[in-house]
Amino acid sequence: MTLAERLSAIDEAIADAARRAGRDPAELTRIVVTKFHPASLVRELHGLGVRDVGENRQQEITAKTGELQDLDDLRWHFIGQAQTKKAAAIRRAAHTVHSVDRERLADALERAAEDDRALDVLIQVNLTDDPSRGGVNPDGLEALAEHVQSLSTLTLRGLMAVAPLDEEPASAFARLHGYAARLRAVAPDASWISAGMTADFAEAIAAGATHLRIGSAITGPRPAQG
Ligand SMILES: *Cc1c(COP(=O)(O)O)cnc(C)c1O
Repeated sequence: MTLAERLSAIDEAIADAARRAGRDPAELTRIVVTKFHPASLVRELHGLGVRDVGENRQQEITAKTGELQDLDDLRWHFIGQAQTKKAAAIRRAAHTVHSVDRERLADALERAAEDDRALDVLIQVNLTDDPSRGGVNPDGLEALAEHVQSLSTLTLRGLMAVAPLDEEPASAFARLHGYAARLRAVAPDASWISAGMTADFAEAIAAGATHLRIGSAITGPRPAQG
């Protein structure tokens, strides 16, 4: 299959999953995760109508946004674990940061503001018991949300999560759905749920995901990490 064929096959599968869940496919944003692929692939995707792309490493998003400055209607989503010292570079490159999981990172993103443009952020919540997977422990969700809301150059949009490797995605995403309700209780406008990858986007859609992060099903296998 060509890139165009894979993209349209996934978009059909997304629409089917939405209809099965009684949802309108138009309310879903499909982010194509292009990590490890060259900027030329992002350009090709843009030519196919893709406007939302996701990257998980600071050096890579910085390099690609630099190379693709002419594609000024692309929206870049940073979805990886972020080191505080990389926050300024991430803010410069990304329109949305999905992986805010601690106050220090939120503060560093706030300090990196260079103009009036607000940065959209999501709080990443950890659905596992392993802190190394990234994400705030669910116990700390409200406190982190209130902290992010106190920062004037960040706009809190919602929650992000990655399904655990050792659990059915549907049950993990059901917990996420509950956390999203808790978040809206303290931040009523923070209604985005970023969840669902190649292996589990149908389950994520059934559990209320609004933003899907799909890589390999669209791009093909990722080249070896450089
Ligand atoms: C790589 C990645 C994805 C996409 O994964 P695929 O299985 O290739 O669809 C989604 N979210 C995050 C956080 C990732 O790092």
